[in-house]
Amino acid sequence: MIKPFPWQIKQWDHLQSAYAQNRLPHALLLAGPAGIGLQQFSFSFAAALLCIESRGDGHACGICKSCHLLQAGTHPDLLSIQPEETGKQIKVDMVRELVGFIQNKSQFGNYKLAIIDPAEAMNRSAANGLLKTLEEPPADSVLILLTEKSALLPITIRSRCQKIDFPVSNQKDSLDWLQGRLGADADAAQLLSLAQGAPLKAIEIQESDQLEQQLELLRDLKSLREQRCDVVKLAEKWLAWDALLVFMHLLNFFNMMSRIKLGIDSDNSSVHKHLQGILKGLDLVQLIRCYDLLLRHYNAVRGPTSLNKQGLLEDFIIYWQKLAGQNRG
Ligand SMILES: [Zn+2]
Repeated sequence: MIKPFPWQIKQWDHLQSAYAQNRLPHALLLAGPAGIGLQQFSFSFAAALLCIESRGDGHACGICKSCHLLQAGTHPDLLSIQPEETGKQIKVDMVRELVGFIQNKSQFGNYKLAIIDPAEAMNRSAANGLLKTLEEPPADSVLILLTEKSALLPITIRSRCQKIDFPVSNQKDSLDWLQGRLGADADAAQLLSLAQGAPLKAIEIQESDQLEQQLELLRDLKSLREQRCDVVKLAEKWLAWDALLVFMHLLNFFNMMSRIKLGIDSDNSSVHKHLQGILKGLDLVQLIRCYDLLLRHYNAVRGPTSLNKQGLLEDFIIYWQKLAGQNRG
């Protein structure tokens, strides 16, 4: 059987009940952060609609001809479009292909489905090319748009889709699943914290060398609060890890610290305990100023021109050290 993740049950049930009442929308906008499993959800949902041996529990059987074709990525009634490369645009000719595809009759006599991933990658003419189909969708067709940043989508697109949010709220489901997946030895709570609640991102962190780096970064932030350090040497170490990644992790940490400070985020993971120690004595305004500085540097490093990354890292370290020193006990 092909099922959604345990933390997606609410959204799944919502769509199933719409389906049962013959009220399935022709266009869905699935919105949630990276690592929450939007692709897997849309795949499970497409499989359920296309399965020819469905047993009435709402899930695809996983073994019929339709399910096999789907798993092989060759189902004639499903088309998925993505940018040619990550970060690139979805262009109008890809959308034209999709529009043509969705107008044709279903080969299996069921639904026709098309997935756009991520929807915010569509450039303006691609988005315009989709409007007519969103306004007058063919019978038994469903368009599924996936997005991490729904605010970037044109309002003309958003207003023609039923939006389904996938927030990172149900910690218990995610944590149980993650623990089961990683085994009893893994610190699932710590990983989920570092992934800001997105379970698939937590797995990515565990499988890369990011975990050790992030923990060491936390230790560095803390020791900067306690004692002076060699700024150049520390910046060199961070630069060797990759400046963009370091700024991204730091942004995550300062975002989490601001949320802890506001009382809207708390869990018992070791990461949160570390962060509580680091932010001790600082106020929200100071944390937000740090965040702003990091965001500027992050965008600068990400930008097209090459600049002095070491200098930007040193700049943050000096800023943080000064701030931390002011509040040092
Ligand atoms: Zn099936």
